[in-house]
Amino acid sequence: SAKRDKTHFTVYTHQDDLERRQQLRLAQDLPDAVKNNQLVLNYQPIVRISDQQVIGVEALVRWQHPKQGLIFPDSFIPLAEGSGSIDALTEWVLEQTIIQGSSWLAQGTRLSVSVNISALILHNPAFPDMVAKKLEKTGFPAGLLKLEITESAIISDVSRATEIVTRLHEMGVRLSIDDFGTGYTSLAYLRKLPFDEIKIDKSFVLNMTQVADDEVIVRTLLDLAKSLGLSVVAEGVEDARTWKVLEALDCDVAQGYFMSRPIDLEAFNSWIITQPW
Ligand code: C2E
Ligand code: CA
Ligand code: CA
Ligand code: CA
Repeated sequence: SAKRDKTHFTVYTHQDDLERRQQLRLAQDLPDAVKNNQLVLNYQPIVRISDQQVIGVEALVRWQHPKQGLIFPDSFIPLAEGSGSIDALTEWVLEQTIIQGSSWLAQGTRLSVSVNISALILHNPAFPDMVAKKLEKTGFPAGLLKLEITESAIISDVSRATEIVTRLHEMGVRLSIDDFGTGYTSLAYLRKLPFDEIKIDKSFVLNMTQVADDEVIVRTLLDLAKSLGLSVVAEGVEDARTWKVLEALDCDVAQGYFMSRPIDLEAFNSWIITQPW
């Protein structure tokens, strides 16, 4: 990180140089990572609170780097966005999750699959057709595919984003606003755009049983979503107490370490058969 001296010049340390060079190298490695199968998906269950039914999974990408080991998305998604690899990465994630969702369905396990969509994708007019092709190829129902979009994605180019989001909605794909409460969504967009669901950001949920203000925020976001006819996922549910409070507040769906951390496919497939629900 850059340190400032007393005269407000920015002083870069040797550490910054190292970090920057490492980031540059990672960004250069990314296109090959997709081609060489170094990306891995973990799955985290999404559970309906009323009957404890597992109704879906969120796919979360990791990078098994040959030299640097396992890298988490917060360290390379921004690089992918900055270096133009995000389209290929997103296409890979979609391909894998739609195939996986189809395979679960064929085995009689009906799960919706959620994929995180970077802001930049909402500037790509070819995106909806790409999604449509993948759905057609597998026969996976559009209604079981959920795209999670952060608020900032919508703000940066409203009219273009509206067009793309509307197209996806017409195809029957479900749309979810991720990290809800942390951005600057004007409530007018919420009404105008065809979203089905909001995900309350985990920063409000993590401590809601101890911090009264956080509980008030969660309750307010729930009320808002309900009056707009949107369903609600609370993310970051780490313990039974939080689950109980959310249940009392009539929250629809929960996701978090309390049920399961994101785990690889094999682990997920064994996890789900052990569930009482
Ligand atoms: P996100 O979409 O908000 O995903 C939820 C993050 O919270 C995940 O971190 C997950 O592991 C973590 N999490 C889940 N439950 C709990 C909990 O109970 N407590 C706590 N403390 N954390 C919990 P992860 O997997 O490191 O992903 C970080 C972010 O990277 C995601 O945040 C998402 O924005 C982005 N991301 C992940 N996969 C993709 C992808 O395929 N494409 C794009 N564009 N972004 C992705
Ligand atoms: Ca997400
Ligand atoms: Ca989130
Ligand atoms: Ca996030």
